[in-house]
Parts: sequence; C-alpha cells; structure tokens
Amino acid sequence: MRKKIVAGNWKMNGSYELINSLVPALAEEAKQSQAEILVCPPSLFLGDVRRQAGERLLVGAQNCHEAESGAFTGEVSTGMLAELQLSHVLVGHSERRAIYGETDALIAQKTKAAIAAGLVAVLCVGETLEERENGRTLDVVLGQVKAVVEQLELADWSKLVVAYEPVWAIGTGKTASSDQAQEVHRAIREALAGFSQEHADAMRILYGGSVKAANAEELFACPDIDGGLVGGASLNVDEFISICRAAN
Ligand code: PEP
Repeated sequence: MRKKIVAGNWKMNGSYELINSLVPALAEEAKQSQAEILVCPPSLFLGDVRRQAGERLLVGAQNCHEAESGAFTGEVSTGMLAELQLSHVLVGHSERRAIYGETDALIAQKTKAAIAAGLVAVLCVGETLEERENGRTLDVVLGQVKAVVEQLELADWSKLVVAYEPVWAIGTGKTASSDQAQEVHRAIREALAGFSQEHADAMRILYGGSVKAANAEELFACPDIDGGLVGGASLNVDEFISICRAAN
C-alpha cells in the first residue's frame, strides 16, 4: 500500500508572518496524518521552516543545482539542502521548464544530484494545453518521465516521486477531471512497469494542478493517484489542511 503525500509548493510566496501561522498548524496536523505532509517554501525560508516543522512535517526545496559546489552565483546545491535536514526537492516544475528553459537532460542531472545527496526528488511532468489538444499528452509526459528514470538505477527509485501536473491546470483554476488524471497516472505507472513492475507498483505519483479542498477527495480516490502537489491552495492553512485530510 503506497503512503499518500500532500505537498505544498509555495512558489515565490510567503513571509515570516505566513510561516508563523502555517507551519505550527501543519506540524500538528502531520503528527496525526496517515499521509506524509511536505512543504516547499522559498529557499530563503527553508532553515526557519525546518526548525518549526518538528519531527513529522517534511520540508523540501523548490529547486536545486546539479553541481556539488562552485561558481554558480545565486544557486543552491543538494548537499546544502541535505545539510539543512530537508527531505525533498522539486525538480522539473513546469515553471522552471518554461521560464528558465530547463531541459529533460538538466532535470535528470538535478534528480541524480538530489538522490546522491540523500534527498527525495519530486519529478514534475506535464503537457501544455496545445500538446493535449494535439493528442500528444502521453508522448510528452511519458517522454519526460523516461528521460529521467533511464538515467537512474532501480535502487534509486525509492528516492523518487513523480508529480503529474498538466501545465494548463496549474494556477488556472482548471483541474483535470479525475478520469483525465487517472488515465495519465495509469499510463505513467505502466511505463514504469516496463522497467520493473515491483518498482512501478511502489512509485508514488502525485497529481498537481488547481487541487483544492473541493476536488481533492475525488482525485485522491483514484487508484493511481497517491496524493497531490498543491500550489495556491497550500498558502491557506484551512484549505491545505482539508486537502491533507482528504488524503487520509
Ligand atoms: C504547482 O505549482 O505545482 C501547482 C500545482 O499550482 P496550483 O495548485 O496553484 O495550480
């Protein structure tokens, strides 16, 4: 039985005021939750959030650099994230692919660096509206997944989570229907089974894209959806806690 994960991606939002109201409440929630709860604040706040998170609330970064160290002004290495006692890092978020031009090859390198540092990489994949309308959803999504897993050893898969996030559903209020999401999640799991059925069965595949309290329960009830990656709604404590409870 795969343990569900509900992850909050704050993106470039948040403040000490938000941290002080949200993190203690989530730390309490995490103590009694059957799901794993993860928050990914901006890197500047990671140390403070980690200190307030207690033992059960997981804290992750939104991005990392692929190199161990060096002349990369403004960047943060996976070793530094591990030193902060973080457990996860998002890689390949569609905003990083679209705005910062991150390629599948770079995302594979970041994933390897994260795993080598002992972090769990949350690999984000998803198609644009145009790609969906052209019937290319599975080509695009499975291509993004394979580009990374082909670079990993099977033993590394326990340090990988996949997040299917249709780009057209991120921050738009348009959620994929549970049928649309389940279809892609199932296809991802089947593609992973081409490498190893056992590892594919164990892989957590999250859905992201305008998840909110009102749709979380239906999405999380799908057989291949193992939780959610939540953007906007993760900034509201009541809404995010309701989404976490939907995963129980
Ligand atoms: C995201 O940023 O990963 C995301 C899914 O955002 P939202 O929930 O706001 O659509």
